[in-house]
Amino acid sequence: MKLYGASVVKGLLYTLKTFVNTYIEDFKRMGGKGTSFEGSRTVYDEKGVCTVMYPEQPMPVGSTYERFRVLPMLIYDEQPNGEKDVRCTSCGICAKVCPPQCIWIVQETDASGKPVPKPQDFQIDTAVCMNCGLCTEFCPFDAIKMDHKFELTYTGDRDGRYDSYLYGLDKLLQPTSYYAATHPQANAAEEAARLAEAEAKKAKEEAKKAAAAAKAAAAAAAPAPDDDAPEKSVKKPMSDEEKAALKEAAQKKAAEMLAKKQAAAAEAASSEPSDSQGAATDEKPAKKVMTPEEKAALKEAAQKKAAELLAQKQAAAEASPEAPADPAVQDDKVEGAV
Ligand code: SF4
Ligand code: SF4
Repeated sequence: MKLYGASVVKGLLYTLKTFVNTYIEDFKRMGGKGTSFEGSRTVYDEKGVCTVMYPEQPMPVGSTYERFRVLPMLIYDEQPNGEKDVRCTSCGICAKVCPPQCIWIVQETDASGKPVPKPQDFQIDTAVCMNCGLCTEFCPFDAIKMDHKFELTYTGDRDGRYDSYLYGLDKLLQPTSYYAATHPQANAAEEAARLAEAEAKKAKEEAKKAAAAAKAAAAAAAPAPDDDAPEKSVKKPMSDEEKAALKEAAQKKAAEMLAKKQAAAAEAASSEPSDSQGAATDEKPAKKVMTPEEKAALKEAAQKKAAELLAQKQAAAEASPEAPADPAVQDDKVEGAV
């Protein structure tokens, strides 16, 4: 049977247990001597309600939840010589993505005026910042993070009140150790990712070097080119003399081909009248594609035919002397046939 409201009762019992435990634990810590700042618990440990006597007893660093965010801070790596290696490269991405546009960055330059990937000035107008954390999400160098500090009240004179909202590098910069204390899980995850990336990069470089070494070894172990091998299997560059001889042979060949073409054109031009004369006959379409040999054979056949006709005519004239012989007509026929 399902009991409705069982979870509600369970939750109420848990609250009652925590309430009672708070008194029991606090009584144990104080030794029954009343309240004290030292005895109050600032970290939630499931043995009672977590309390602090604020503002006399501030929350210790790292005691808040990691994702608690107030204002951005800039992280620098502490060098062994005490120098601050600021992670920010002044790329400007955070300034671009900031919704209320409250970030200003000035990039550093060297003596020659060349830009250096460091911020010369970095300003955040904390009066405008809406604590969204987008700048930290988009920073590709883990250089900007959200700080936990919430005690931001200005207590100076009135004139400096507005300037106090402008946070420069002096207020924004925090060491990596501070970030590790306030964001232990996030810092550990980022360090692990950085380490993995560095190792992957190193492995890639080593693989590249090994491949280059193997290639060099294979090239060294390869057999020397065989002098007796056929010419085509050995790709050797041509000497100048060989190139000149090849060029000369090519030019000679080209000249021969040109001479042949010119001779063929001249022959075609000389036989053009007979071709045009023969255009009246049925052989006109074939003339344009006939070779000189074909033309000569055709001419010879035509002459032979004309001779036969002439012989037939003469024979006919001899058989009938009355019939008038017309050599002009015969000549015309012969010419026309040719
Ligand atoms: S904090 Fe990050 S995103 Fe912003 S300028 Fe520096 S490196 Fe670029
Ligand atoms: S937390 Fe948001 S509003 Fe504030 S500086 Fe970053 S991006 Fe801008």
